[in-house]
Amino acid sequence: MTIPTETRNPALSQICDAIHARTRFLITSHTKPDGDSIGSQLAMAYALEAIGKEVRIVNADPAPEHYLEFPGVSRIEITRGIVETDVDALIVMESGDLARTGIAGLEGRFAINIDHHQGNARYASLNWIDESAAACGEMVFDLIEALGVPLTIEIATHVYLAILTDTGSFHYSNITPKTFDICRQTVEAGVNPAAMARRVFDQNSFGKLKLIGALLDEMDLLADGRLAAMYLNDDILNATGTTYNDTEGLINLPLTAREIQAVVFFKLGADGDIHVSMRSKYDVDVRAIAARHGGGGHKNAAGFKMRGPLEAVRDGVLKEVADAIAHGIRSRP
Ligand code: 5GP
Ligand code: MN
Repeated sequence: MTIPTETRNPALSQICDAIHARTRFLITSHTKPDGDSIGSQLAMAYALEAIGKEVRIVNADPAPEHYLEFPGVSRIEITRGIVETDVDALIVMESGDLARTGIAGLEGRFAINIDHHQGNARYASLNWIDESAAACGEMVFDLIEALGVPLTIEIATHVYLAILTDTGSFHYSNITPKTFDICRQTVEAGVNPAAMARRVFDQNSFGKLKLIGALLDEMDLLADGRLAAMYLNDDILNATGTTYNDTEGLINLPLTAREIQAVVFFKLGADGDIHVSMRSKYDVDVRAIAARHGGGGHKNAAGFKMRGPLEAVRDGVLKEVADAIAHGIRSRP
């Protein structure tokens, strides 16, 4: 006999009760939303509406352009200011604390916190953190099932988008049989994996191809060729006619080289802030480095923000990643 998901997981059961008891929901996620945050928020929104709830989705930054054609993305409201929160509950996805939403004025509400990152501050009324989930979309899938909502094509599309992107198109180490079981169900509900892969990954403009060329051209190789460092600034964006959003996913390119075990991507903002993104293979743990600098993420994909100038911080960060490579490489399969 199958045990219903909600009786196996008390947090899920409490969240279901809280949702059933309320009507108006505000869904949000982190700044610079990625495929998992967009997919998780919209899957949740469609599911809540299927059971008669009122839903608003509010994000600090717009979705990457190529996600705009996914169902419901155009309805996401973009604001960093105080949200008029005439709602019964806030649902926050993928955010270790409320500041990560980039939206002011969310404090003091009944809030449901759903996340799969380590180090979540458990700031909400109900906190459901599952670090074993390959994507927040996996957790949303469980919640939707527990709410008794059928898997429509819109919901399935967003769950698949979340998993496809947050596993680095099935590259990362947190993939489990459950990941594929959820994907199987989304495909049975009508998702076309080939079309999804094209819509998500084959959306480059010619400008983006030039950007890739420019970034790889200026890439540094360190630690005996095991570590790659890439640098983004406004000059490269202007020269290639691209924007910050065009950089999504580019950090993964150097990892396709057999020797490279980790990549650090320094993205310089106009305000002097540097966003440091890191990716790694196998047991090279970049999350621990991000955590030391006040950021977060996962073992193989993590990030943090620093104050510049780049020259002052670069060598220290690269040394930390080189050490993580030396430490992690022993367990490489
Ligand atoms: P990305 O490098 O694509 O920006 O992020 C990779 C992973 O690290 C994601 O799971 C993302 O949520 C996390 N991450 C990136 N930047 C930050 C940050 O400044 N703070 C926290 N807590 N996590 C971050
Ligand atoms: Mn995620």
